[in-house]
Amino acid sequence: MFDFRSDTVTQPTEAMRRAMAQAEVGDDVYGDDPTVNALEEMAAEMAGFEAALFTASGTQANLLALMAHCERGDEYLCGQQAHNYKFEGGGAAVLGSIQPQPIENEEDGTLCLQRVAAAIKPDDIHFARTRLFSLENTIGGKVLPMAYLAQAQAFAFEKGLKLHLDGARVFNAAVAQNTSLESIAQHFDSLTICLSKGLAAPVGSLLVGDEALIKKAKRWRKMLGGGMRQAGILAAAGQLALTEQVERLAEDHDNARYLAEQLGGLNSVEVRQCATNMVFAQFHHADLAALNAHLLADGCKLSVGHNTRMVLHKDLNRAAVDALVQSLNRFEKGAV
Ligand SMILES: *Cc1c(COP(=O)(O)O)cnc(C)c1O
Repeated sequence: MFDFRSDTVTQPTEAMRRAMAQAEVGDDVYGDDPTVNALEEMAAEMAGFEAALFTASGTQANLLALMAHCERGDEYLCGQQAHNYKFEGGGAAVLGSIQPQPIENEEDGTLCLQRVAAAIKPDDIHFARTRLFSLENTIGGKVLPMAYLAQAQAFAFEKGLKLHLDGARVFNAAVAQNTSLESIAQHFDSLTICLSKGLAAPVGSLLVGDEALIKKAKRWRKMLGGGMRQAGILAAAGQLALTEQVERLAEDHDNARYLAEQLGGLNSVEVRQCATNMVFAQFHHADLAALNAHLLADGCKLSVGHNTRMVLHKDLNRAAVDALVQSLNRFEKGAV
């Protein structure tokens, strides 16, 4: 099966499975797991921060960031399309009593800083207290421009807001710009990183921040049921995600460009966007259910819709891209 639905489907590498089997572990709730501690130190160092926290998921890491930056009755500013607003079950509001203030994303994924400024609430008993500004990089595969990150940082400082990055795919942004994690992270007060997407770890994310923030987040993590015991089994794979999988992301970006080029040769498919490891295309087929069944029969798993997202990752090579394009081509020609 060639699975184009997401980079979360990546299988752990053989090296990860070996490292997991051999990991030195302890009870991480006591702070005793050497492998978790090493992973957290590695992540903090790579990002140029004081501390990091290993979490069960990116959703948990984002929620911990929001709850550590904000108190009950506070507000965070974010994109209308932000994962930590739209795709995390409203967790900040439900579990943190934190009000989201979404703002329409611009075409390039940024938020217009004038609009963000207009959404900041005055210090008045009628309003929630605006505390935090949250960005996402990459967003829908798109890399936020470096110049914008510096502007957002200066803006947040001027307005007295903290700045958080949902960096689930921040390494895709770094690799696409041929730069380091630190050069992106330096603009933020905290960031989250997913190990379980293109970096191929089976489970886990990280929250990175200063000591005080991570201390608060650790308390919330325990309360939310995220205090894991011999979690070094998972962190061992996470270490290899950070050391062995980052540079490889460039292959996914190449394969995404290759897929976009190949799709360009089909009449029924219109490529709308190709950025980092994602391709978005309009599928103009009359019968999408039939197309989906056809693709599945050819071993291609896709979230087929009129606007279809295809995600490249470690377990999809050029041959997988060719298989998908050929299958689409056969369907188009009615040779089914
Ligand atoms: C996947 C993702 C998350 C959440 O990660 P999970 O591990 O699936 O909870 C957060 N933000 C973005 C941008 C993501 O793509």
